[in-house]
Amino acid sequence: MTDLADSPAVRRLADWDHDRLASLAEEYDTPLYVTDLDRVKENYTRFASAFPDAEVMYAAKAHTGKAVLEAVLEAGGEIECAAWGELQRSIDAGADPNTLQYTAVNPPDHDLDYATDLAAENPGLTITIGATDTLDRLAERGYDGRIAIRINPGIGTGHHEKVATGADAKFGIPYDRVPEVADRVREEFDLVGLHAHAGSGVLTEGLEEHCRAIERVGEMARRVGDEDLEFVDVGGGYGVPYREDDEPLDLEKTSNMVRDAVGDLEATLKLEPGRYVVADASVILSEVNTIKEAPDTTVVGIDASLATLIRPAMFGSYHPMYNVSAPDREPHEVTVGGPVCTSADVFAHDRPVARPEREDIIAIGNAGSYGYELASQFHSQPRPAEVALENGEARVVRRRETLDDVTRVEQ
Ligand SMILES: *Cc1c(COP(=O)(O)O)cnc(C)c1O
Repeated sequence: MTDLADSPAVRRLADWDHDRLASLAEEYDTPLYVTDLDRVKENYTRFASAFPDAEVMYAAKAHTGKAVLEAVLEAGGEIECAAWGELQRSIDAGADPNTLQYTAVNPPDHDLDYATDLAAENPGLTITIGATDTLDRLAERGYDGRIAIRINPGIGTGHHEKVATGADAKFGIPYDRVPEVADRVREEFDLVGLHAHAGSGVLTEGLEEHCRAIERVGEMARRVGDEDLEFVDVGGGYGVPYREDDEPLDLEKTSNMVRDAVGDLEATLKLEPGRYVVADASVILSEVNTIKEAPDTTVVGIDASLATLIRPAMFGSYHPMYNVSAPDREPHEVTVGGPVCTSADVFAHDRPVARPEREDIIAIGNAGSYGYELASQFHSQPRPAEVALENGEARVVRRRETLDDVTRVEQ
């Protein structure tokens, strides 16, 4: 197991080795993702250690890079997938398909074909369903294997309405219909668990509401007979401090509250953190190309854009920024934006940063979760390279795309 002795609950952008980052930008060009695999392992291990008798699966969609999946597996984690490609990439990274859990949300036919073919050879695979249609479609494919029922607890939590899933009708079986669906699953399949994923980005102050959703999952498990279930899975959603003065999630408190909320169960507790495992393990390095004095602010143009990191544009997310080239310059309030032609392509307004100059390298922190994963080729921008750090060594785990990569599939 990864040694946690030197592992703080949070790694702030200020805690990275800035000289190292500056030299990585020099060596590998910008924009660049840098992912510390040792930190990924620490985060997984810290979370899992707080839930010693639970099973902690990593939710792959936060960052599905092979090196990240390998790091999680190395730390002893299992993997939760939400699409067929994530299943395949987990297998490619070395996961035993029998340990994978596939959460089907309005699953396309191809996903169900893939998952049922995989399960035919690997009966340990678990499919989580959130609609009875999915059961019909699995039965049509001759599937009678392991099923978990995703419950809509009717309570959603999260840092942004677009990621609060617990009360959203799109996700899960409506609460009061779960017992009848459980009866059906027991007849036609192997009912192994109940599942709920209520939201995302929950920090200590959001725990109470988060736990109200979990209470309902525990109640439902007892109602349908938890002694016949292998697990009760309360999903992910555990947040990280994006702002410098946000406190990290108190894991001990979280663990106690989650346990209390779910209540006495024969079944094993499962959790599926995504963001928590990878968020603070990556930074983006980006070079300043423009300094413009505007009437109300100084605009700093950088070569990263919403195609590199879409969270600020999509969720209004805050990401810390640091001038790794000149940390000692006077802080100056700046507006930081990228080269994409929309006003949404702004990473920060009125942000104090050590006064940037052209060619400085700006680090953008907490970029590991839903960062590279949501990167696009908008504006015909090839996606950035990703460098992994492990045991002090740096290596390219994803080369920089070329324009050929962007146009490769055109006919
Ligand atoms: C996205 C997702 C997770 C992980 O959510 P985080 O907020 O990244 O922890 C876990 N389980 C399911 C089913 C998900 O869809």
